[in-house]
Amino acid sequence: MFDSIKKKFTSEGNEPVGTTAKPDICRDKSAELYAKAKTFFPGGVNSPVRAFKSVYGTPLFIKKGDGCHLWDADDNQFIDFCCSWGPLILGHNHAKVREKVTEVMQNGMSFGAPTSLENELAELIIKNNKFIEKLRFVSSGTEAVMSAIRLARGYTKRDKILKFEGCYHGHSDSLLVKAGSGLVTFGETSSAGVPKSFADETIVVALNDKPAIEKAFEEFKDQIAAIIIEPVPANNGLLLQEKEYLQYLRDICTQNGALLIFDEVISGFRLGFEGAAGYYQIKPDIITYGKIIGGGLPVGCYGSSAEIMGHISPDGGVYQAGTLSGNPVAMAAGIAQLSELLRMGFYRDLNKKTEEFTESIQRFATARNYKFKVYAIGSIFWFAFTDKEAIRRADEIDPASMEKFKKLHRELLNRGIYLGPSGYEVGFISSAHTKIDLEKAKRAIFDSLEVVFREK
Ligand SMILES: *Cc1c(COP(=O)(O)O)cnc(C)c1O
Repeated sequence: MFDSIKKKFTSEGNEPVGTTAKPDICRDKSAELYAKAKTFFPGGVNSPVRAFKSVYGTPLFIKKGDGCHLWDADDNQFIDFCCSWGPLILGHNHAKVREKVTEVMQNGMSFGAPTSLENELAELIIKNNKFIEKLRFVSSGTEAVMSAIRLARGYTKRDKILKFEGCYHGHSDSLLVKAGSGLVTFGETSSAGVPKSFADETIVVALNDKPAIEKAFEEFKDQIAAIIIEPVPANNGLLLQEKEYLQYLRDICTQNGALLIFDEVISGFRLGFEGAAGYYQIKPDIITYGKIIGGGLPVGCYGSSAEIMGHISPDGGVYQAGTLSGNPVAMAAGIAQLSELLRMGFYRDLNKKTEEFTESIQRFATARNYKFKVYAIGSIFWFAFTDKEAIRRADEIDPASMEKFKKLHRELLNRGIYLGPSGYEVGFISSAHTKIDLEKAKRAIFDSLEVVFREK
């Protein structure tokens, strides 16, 4: 499918290549499936951003993934940079994960009683992560964060939490307050159905704004249970924070008797095995994980010191439970995936590959004076139609620039590149993306940018 691209290698230099828009890929089968799905599900989907509302055309129905590739219902093939929104750091259908899951499944799928697999995954994490002593497995990132918030409230005996505009923490009530991700994509700032009294317990401030934090602690003295942040905010573009600011949050929480929660559902096991806490060497009080931890199956987790975790039921008074928590099949996927991440040089190779990829795209855009930046950290990247050197707050993103992303997304799909269907979403690189795949992807991205920037 890359024949059309192969015929012309667009270098990073300045020479014009005369690329034109590609004809649209066939989406007939996807369109048919989507029409039927709309009769079953609101918007035809089981999670809003999948509906392609902010990009061109009908959502693609996927029938297969292998390595870094995806195939849709119409047999179009793509190099995938969505990676199931982050979990697939080893790519699709990784043999080790598949084999472990298949093996464990032979003994049944769920018991509602403890299994050794929970111990195995917990030990793998705790032994290799100096920031947590005890943890609890749940079934999604949302659940992990919701439980962490309850723990912080129970532990501090305070009610209010402080979150940041542009950080997404799942869809639980107290956190759907000016949240990012799908909500911003649809141009809303909070969700219907969240009681005002819940929202009142959530203080929302802009990222990278110290005076706002100080004001909040003044105004709500001794009432703030926790500050929750994505230490690498990656649900509303990639709003990279400075280490000094994260350290400031650490210190002000300590001074005020509040807990610091790092929501590492994306950054956990992504920036390194110890996630952003390890990357920045900052110790939060509670950490939440999701996505990568489950190897593509539904797993979430929250962890902390043994002392703080001692407040969780049945040891303590903070109730939290789950019929499928620590599900053996999901644990098996997590064990297999995390074991691979512990191999020597795993993150070094992945991050280096990402750096080469993103820097090369940036050089291409800069050489042509395109108003386009590639922000990146670890194996996460974000394409932004801006000329700002850094974007640290949600309100620094120009919503009008999303029109350009929409065009880019369409051109990329037509050239066999799959990005998450929103300009506010980041991309991920997996260990399954080979240098050759990334080279192909780069050429497609170059050509697509040419088209996007040629049109007025
Ligand atoms: C994805 C995500 C969540 C929610 O996790 P789900 O598994 O979708 O419930 C929470 N926090 C962050 C930072 C996330 O990226």
